[in-house]
Amino acid sequence: MPAPDGRPRLPDPPPAIPADRLGRPLRSLRLSVTDRCNLRCRYCMPEEDYVWLPRESLLSFEELERLARIFAGLGVTKLRLTGGEPLLRHDLPTLVRLLARVPGIADLALTTNGLLLERDAAALRAAGLRRVTVSLDTLRPERMLALARTTRHGDVLRGVAAARAAGFEGLKLNTVVIRGFNDDELGDLIEFGRAHGAEVRFIEYMDVGGATRWSLDQVVSRREMLERLGRRFGPIAPVARPDPTAPAERFVLPDGTAFGIIASVTAPFCRDCDRSRLTADGTWFLCLYAERGVDLREPLRLGASDEELARLVRAGWAARADRGAEERLAVPERGALYQLEGLRADPHREMHTRGG
Ligand code: SAM
Repeated sequence: MPAPDGRPRLPDPPPAIPADRLGRPLRSLRLSVTDRCNLRCRYCMPEEDYVWLPRESLLSFEELERLARIFAGLGVTKLRLTGGEPLLRHDLPTLVRLLARVPGIADLALTTNGLLLERDAAALRAAGLRRVTVSLDTLRPERMLALARTTRHGDVLRGVAAARAAGFEGLKLNTVVIRGFNDDELGDLIEFGRAHGAEVRFIEYMDVGGATRWSLDQVVSRREMLERLGRRFGPIAPVARPDPTAPAERFVLPDGTAFGIIASVTAPFCRDCDRSRLTADGTWFLCLYAERGVDLREPLRLGASDEELARLVRAGWAARADRGAEERLAVPERGALYQLEGLRADPHREMHTRGG
C-alpha cells in the first residue's frame, strides 16, 4: 500500500537484534538515574529506612549516554528516565541534552513525582525531553500526607502546571489505585486531568518488590474501575491501540475525554512487553519481576568495547523468556513478592531501584 502522500511505503527496517524467545523485540528502555526518592509512598517505599546503592556504583552521565547509544544501536527507540525520583539527580537537563542527541531515540520521556518539576520543567523541555508523566495518586493533600508522608501536595500541582506551560507533547498523570485509599477519586482525577491538559492512567496496585504491604483485596481491577466510571460518566468505549506494546489500554468517556488503565495485576500483557530496565548502577533487568539482572557496569568500567557490551545485551535479550506478571497471576496464595529481609539483602529487588 502506498504512503498517504502517494510515495511507495518502505518496509520497516529489520530489528537490530533478533526478538527474544517469545518473539518480542527490544524497543524500550527505562533508565533509572537514582535510587533515592523524596517521597515514601506506602505502595513503594513504606519502610523507615533503606539500603541504598553505593554512590560510587552510580553510572555517570557519560556512562549512561554510552549505554543508551549501545541500546539504541540494538533497536531501542524509546527511553524513559525514572528512579527513585529522577529530579533528585543533580543537573538532569544535562543528561537529557546528551540522550536527546543519541541517534535512533525517537521518544525521550520522564516519570516523576512532580515535587521538583516546577523548578525543572522548562529546562528539561529546552534540553530535548519530549514527554512527561507525573505520579498523582490523590487530589487531597491530607491523603497524600497519609500515603506518601509529605505535605507538599501543592508542589506537585504546581509541577503539573509547569509541565503544561513548558509544552511537552503528551502530559500524563499516573495514579496507583488502592482500595479504601483513593478508589473514590477516579472520576475526580479524570476531571482534574481534563482541566489541566493531562491524560490520567490508572495503575492496578502491583505486588512488586518494595510493596511489602500488598494484598490482593486492596487491588481495584480494571473491570471494577470501568464499572465505577461507567456509573458516573455513562458508556465508556475502548480506543484501538496504535501501539500494542504500550502498557496502558485507553478508553474514552462519552464526552471524548480519554484515560488509560494499566492492568498489570489482573490482565498482564507480558506477550507484548518490549521493555527492559537499567538501574542507576548499571544492572540490566529484563522483567520488572526478575530475580536477577545483568551487570553492565563492571564490564563497562573494566574497559569493554561498545561491541563487547552490545554482545552482552544481544545475548541477554536472545535468552529472555520472562513473563513475570503472568506468572504472578498463576500464584495461588498471592502476597507480597519479597519480605523485608529479602529486600535488604538486595536493594535491586526494590521498585524504587528498578524504576517502575
Ligand atoms: N519517582 C517517580 C514517580 O513517582 O513517578 C518515578 C519512579 S516510580 C517507582 C515509577 C512509577 O511506579 C510511579 O508511577 C509509581 O506510582 C509506580 N509504582 C510504584 N510502586 C507501585 C506499585 N506497587 N504498584 C503500581 N505502581 C507502582
